[in-house]
Amino acid sequence: MNIIDVPVYQLAEMLKDRKLSSAELTKAYLDRIKQVEGTVRAFITLMEEKAMAMALAADGRLMSGTNTTPLTGIPIAIKDLLCIQGHPTTCGSKILQNFIPPYDASVIARLRDAGSVFLGKTNMDEFAMGSSTENSRFFCTRNPWNPAMVPGGSSGGSAAAVAARETPLALGTDTGGSIRQPAAFCGITGLKPTYGSVSRYGLVAYASSLDQIGPMARCVRDAALLLDAISFHDPLDSTSADVTRPRCYEASLRPGISGVKIGVPREFFREGMDEGIRQRLDEARRVMEGLGARFIDVSIPALDCSLAAYYVIAPCEASSNLARYDGCRYGYRAEGEPDVISMYKKTRREGFGEEVLRRIIIGTYALSSGYYEAYYLKAQKVRTLIKRDFDRAFQECDFLFAPATPTPAFPIGEKADDPLSMYLSDIFTVSVNMAGLPGLVVPCGFTKGLPVGLQLIGRAFGEASLVNAGAAFQEATDFHLKTPDCSVVSGQ
Ligand code: GLN
Repeated sequence: MNIIDVPVYQLAEMLKDRKLSSAELTKAYLDRIKQVEGTVRAFITLMEEKAMAMALAADGRLMSGTNTTPLTGIPIAIKDLLCIQGHPTTCGSKILQNFIPPYDASVIARLRDAGSVFLGKTNMDEFAMGSSTENSRFFCTRNPWNPAMVPGGSSGGSAAAVAARETPLALGTDTGGSIRQPAAFCGITGLKPTYGSVSRYGLVAYASSLDQIGPMARCVRDAALLLDAISFHDPLDSTSADVTRPRCYEASLRPGISGVKIGVPREFFREGMDEGIRQRLDEARRVMEGLGARFIDVSIPALDCSLAAYYVIAPCEASSNLARYDGCRYGYRAEGEPDVISMYKKTRREGFGEEVLRRIIIGTYALSSGYYEAYYLKAQKVRTLIKRDFDRAFQECDFLFAPATPTPAFPIGEKADDPLSMYLSDIFTVSVNMAGLPGLVVPCGFTKGLPVGLQLIGRAFGEASLVNAGAAFQEATDFHLKTPDCSVVSGQ
């Protein structure tokens, strides 16, 4: 077996027993990146030298056997909106093209302490706004299963890199689906943690009340290992929850869903869903029933309003968060303007792409004094209703069973000029962010040669039971072991 096909939890054992060195492993991944990156285009910045230096340092720790963790010596790719001290953090934007952060995000500092090896920064929709990675100001990433298709977004670079075996692990962020939707499109495992689980310190903000960092991996066990490493209470983030967190890796070692009650929210299964996705979900349900789970009907009536409310709240928060990019403090600055107001305007018009500008305009409008109550306040009320619907559903069941996306990956260019149809790809994911809940996506088969994702939604801080169920599903199926035909990818 090729070393790049081995799951992280096994690699950790091999590294610990010195059957493999981190330098060998890192080199194997860097070689793989060279082989397929010309087609996949998952990375904005490759950190080749840094990665080899981190691998050698990890080998030193592993050799002495002191201060090691399951992630010591394991490579990881980082979405390019998390600050790594001394390395560019672009957010997929021209406005931050030359920005080099002077500090580490808290999750990065944790991973550094754990001995992870940073391979590079992955491509994304500009400021995480988008569902296809086509909004990156640099280039579009391709879906490793079919390079004519999008990888999803906004964490499309991270998802494609994991699927194409360019990295065993990646960090993504999910504001309205950006871990789960690309995970589904690329046939990998993605976990959006409960809001407040993972520190957002050093994460460039899109919509602060929705953003959450989470793991992207090949299997649930690997995702659980990464989640355990990045989930902690951080005083540097005032929204970081001061609660005892579940140990997810341990939960993944006790897979099982016998006797578990799973709710099927009927609003997630209406007409309009791709027939192949419906069939794969039916099959997944039968697998889970075979494992002893019981399915019941539940309802999340506010789902119908969730997309509309999300696309008010997220742009409102974004318009405020993005006010700091004005050409004065850091990042891109348009030169040659006669006064400071025209400099601001030109900087922002040139620095931001079309979708980001659209959202700033929508957000500023919805927050303006005449419209605040009609839009922002109304959307916040809808948010409360969504939360209540989930609370009610969880009185009847342990977690929810839903599709991750209404369709499989779509062709590059198909929705690029049609923002509303692009927004619709988030229909099954945004409500989970609005309620602050954890969501796990695992691959559950294929339709038209493209992966399909199953989404399990849990109670707040119920990650362990999601992981437990996801691991049981992956023990009973082999979809997570399928790999895209990379000879096709590299030959394109
Ligand atoms: N596609 C959604 C948006 O554009 C979600 C993005 C995200 O989760 N970062 O807002």
